[in-house]
Amino acid sequence: MNKGNHADVAIIGGGIVGCAIAYYTAKAGMDCMLIEKGDIASGTSSRCDGNITIVDKDPGFDSLMSLKSQELTVDLATDLQLPFEYRALGSLLVCDNDTEMEAAAEWVKIQNDAGLKFKLLNHADIKAESPYFADDIPGGLACETDSLINPYLFCYSLIDRAKHYGLKLHTQTEVKAISKREDFTIETSNGSFTAKKVVNAAGVWAPFIGNMLGVEIPIVPRKGHILVGARQKPIMMRNVMEFGYLMNKFERERIADERTEKHGVALVLEPTESQNFLLGSSRQFVGYDSSVDIRVVETMARRAMRFFPKMHDFNMIRTYTGFRPWTADHLPIVSAVEEVPGFYIAAGHEGDGISLATVTGKLIEALLLEKETIIPVDPLSFDRFQKVGVS
Ligand SMILES: Cc1cc2nc3c(=O)[nH]c(=O)nc-3n(C[C@H](O)[C@H](O)[C@H](O)COP(=O)(O)OP(=O)(O)OC[C@H]3O[C@@H](n4cnc5c(N)ncnc54)[C@H](O)[C@@H]3O)c2cc1C
Repeated sequence: MNKGNHADVAIIGGGIVGCAIAYYTAKAGMDCMLIEKGDIASGTSSRCDGNITIVDKDPGFDSLMSLKSQELTVDLATDLQLPFEYRALGSLLVCDNDTEMEAAAEWVKIQNDAGLKFKLLNHADIKAESPYFADDIPGGLACETDSLINPYLFCYSLIDRAKHYGLKLHTQTEVKAISKREDFTIETSNGSFTAKKVVNAAGVWAPFIGNMLGVEIPIVPRKGHILVGARQKPIMMRNVMEFGYLMNKFERERIADERTEKHGVALVLEPTESQNFLLGSSRQFVGYDSSVDIRVVETMARRAMRFFPKMHDFNMIRTYTGFRPWTADHLPIVSAVEEVPGFYIAAGHEGDGISLATVTGKLIEALLLEKETIIPVDPLSFDRFQKVGVS
């Protein structure tokens, strides 16, 4: 076997999570390789928005993890050499009605009590953010530390730096089978590889990699649509979501019309650096069917016009879909697998993989090196699902 086909650590999956792991493990001096079936960022990480947010996280551990990731991303903005459109502008959540306003006030209080920088906004504050907002929006809230990146560029930037630190990269290399004796043997479409440790960072495909070693991983694809707006007058300067987005994400009860409810639609608007905007999004459990459903797109456009009536006159360029890797308790799995020593999982980030990639990379680095982790990893353990019998 040629020397390039062996490493101490093999990372499977070149999405944002695998790229962040590759960066931190290579930087820590580990002998590592990344194996990706297509190109870097050819999965969900190029079919999403680029928000690094706390605004949509559950108060407590979820928010803490995101805050850590935000802090790490600030550091990366100095170490990475290729630009990735990092913009620290904060983000907004807007309310549809007075009931949501009451819930927003409560949300701000809880997050402020936890030490996070949230602020309640009234109608006038919202109008000051953009003249395009509807006249009857009661208000919303802002989170000061939230930021935006271009996830696609971020992946390439992480890999560029990881290669500088010694990463061996194998793209167009699909993992077909894995076996374990003393080392792992990884059979791929591009030859055989060996490694002492394997990290499964294959996003919604992580269950297939797990199956190769007899490990059942409870991750399910949750499809999302995005509409891309043409360059025109800047409709917003920073990311905005509606409060109902939280209700959809966490499967909580929400007041919405039947179609909005059915397709799991809630407004997310992300202005890109090139002055296009990404309009989302939907949440559906429809397996691995990636086709665009025009009824869902129409529902998203209607929802956007509720908050930005003038959107009616804006041009859209295209639509795409991606799969969020969903877990039942809305937290990712970042963990060693006890039954298979040397096998790790870093997947299941649902709609938070961009926000949580850096903290995930740092946690896996610590687990591989058996060092203390920067945040507790118990809530992210793989065996939490086995304990409650979720499969
Ligand atoms: C519409 C939408 C909007 C979103 N917006 C945001 C947002 O604003 N903020 C946020 O934080 N998150 C967002 N997300 C979620 C985020 O995109 C995902 O959580 C994240 O991209 C998952 O990254 P990943 O690296 O785990 O998976 P992926 O990017 O899917 O990477 C997995 C990789 O594994 C590879 N692979 C699979 N099988 C094999 C194999 N057998 N051999 C080799 N390689 C293999 C795939 O080709 C793929 O490249 C959004 C998601 C969607 C769908």
